[in-house]
Amino acid sequence: MTGEKIRKEIAIIGAGFGGIGMAARLLQSGIDDLVVLEKEAGVGGTWWVNRYPGAACDVPSHLYSFSFAPKPDWSRRFAPQREIQRYLEHCVDHFGLRPLLRLNWQVQRMQWQGHDKRWLITSAGGQQISARYVISAIGGLSRPAWPAIPGIDQFEGVITHSQQWNDELQLESQRVAVIGTGASAVQFIPEIAAKVAKLDVYQRTPNWILPRPDRALPSYLQRCYEAMPWLQKLVRFGIWLKAECRVPGLVWSNRLAFGHRWLARRHLKRQVPDLKLRSKLKPDYAIGCKRVLLSSNYYPALCLPQVELVDQPIQRIESNAIVTNDGLRRPADHLILATGFQATEPVPDGMVTGRDGQDLHQLWRHGPQAYKGTSVAGFPNLFMLLGPNTALGHNSVIVMIEAQIDYILHMLGGLDRQHAASSEIRCEAQARFNRHIQGRLNGSVWNQGGCGSWYLHPASGQNTTLWPDFTWQYRRLMRTVAWDDYVIESSN
Ligand code: NAP
Repeated sequence: MTGEKIRKEIAIIGAGFGGIGMAARLLQSGIDDLVVLEKEAGVGGTWWVNRYPGAACDVPSHLYSFSFAPKPDWSRRFAPQREIQRYLEHCVDHFGLRPLLRLNWQVQRMQWQGHDKRWLITSAGGQQISARYVISAIGGLSRPAWPAIPGIDQFEGVITHSQQWNDELQLESQRVAVIGTGASAVQFIPEIAAKVAKLDVYQRTPNWILPRPDRALPSYLQRCYEAMPWLQKLVRFGIWLKAECRVPGLVWSNRLAFGHRWLARRHLKRQVPDLKLRSKLKPDYAIGCKRVLLSSNYYPALCLPQVELVDQPIQRIESNAIVTNDGLRRPADHLILATGFQATEPVPDGMVTGRDGQDLHQLWRHGPQAYKGTSVAGFPNLFMLLGPNTALGHNSVIVMIEAQIDYILHMLGGLDRQHAASSEIRCEAQARFNRHIQGRLNGSVWNQGGCGSWYLHPASGQNTTLWPDFTWQYRRLMRTVAWDDYVIESSN
């Protein structure tokens, strides 16, 4: 081990939206004995890491930002990655978080130490921090998923995962193969399609795609928001309310999503005149089952003469080509994996060890489970942001993060008043909560819509990622702490 062990009251893991928001609100509440651990060299989490061309958010910026740190001068309706990252950088400075940050500090191991009721956190570099509370803000989409396609190790060209895009990547005049056609792929394919000599897009399942109503926000509007913050709040509220209206079509009955279904079909028909290509792009499952994508330039990119949409399953990858089930072999110099993340396995094996030496990855091997997406039985004094079943298929996750931050602040205040040394959610309370959640999810489009998705756990088939209701219901749920649901141990 290198250096002496640092002692802190709170350690936050991750400096993305969750970690930065949590640290800011803790400081505002007068709690400053904390540290923010970030494995990357800069802040922003997903917005630091995902730098592929065209990366942007598909939630309008006025809602995809903290309610307590409004930015009146967003340049576009849907801000690009760099602007979101800069916004988070600004939040770090504005709230005075810089001294709390430890960058390039990758948590390798986190062990609950029953004897002193603290977490011992060890970095990949061997440094150690002892903290009474750990707040995990690692996000559900931080571990890239590499497809287990036969021969992928034999590929001799360049392989890049969309999350690990290298700015030096030279694609001009190259033969490029993209595997995957999800939210990331539809953003970068239009950016690279015109540059390359040949682009083969390997699609396993077509997506429902809606037009992306992006536009630059004029400076007079930015000045209005600056002068009248209530106006920006009103706009934010309007965006949130509109997004909430999607819940009935996702949870109650998919028939109610008829408007979006019609819009998506019209979008495909208008943008793809070629009937053969259009039929390949037509989804055969309910809209909303997979995340609905927003793009106005993906279909036109697929229509370019140098682009081919391949919907045959991939049989194997060779040293310089991809072979599909129909026996066709398409040469490639570059392979880009847009194959998503290990969303249902957010924590690596051996990383988090709770009470009685329990490993969190092992405990969750049939699917992650938590209480209110925040506390896990067997893991005292650990809180999670965007834990199990708190991702969204219809609205901004920042709304969920803020509800969790308020809940954690409320809990920390209560624990302090009770002179508690530790708190742990009871198994029965966690089980009761999850029975309720899974009951709500059973009839939803995500479970019954006839598609596979990263929302469902591959082993159990359970939906362990999404919140199955309106976000206002989650906010209401998080407003109070049911203290009887926790075992509190006092420090006396
Ligand atoms: P994704 O949505 O999980 O898409 C992965 C793609 O790879 C899918 O098309 C999938 O096909 C395909 N795939 C996976 N394994 C494969 C295999 N072995 N062979 C062939 N194809 C394979 O991943 P993503 O596009 O990176 O997006 C993940 C999530 O990140 C999104 O759902 C969203 O929540 C978030 N995101 C958000 C934004 C934003 O604007 N806010 C932008 C990018 C990403 P199947 O569909 O058949 O599984």
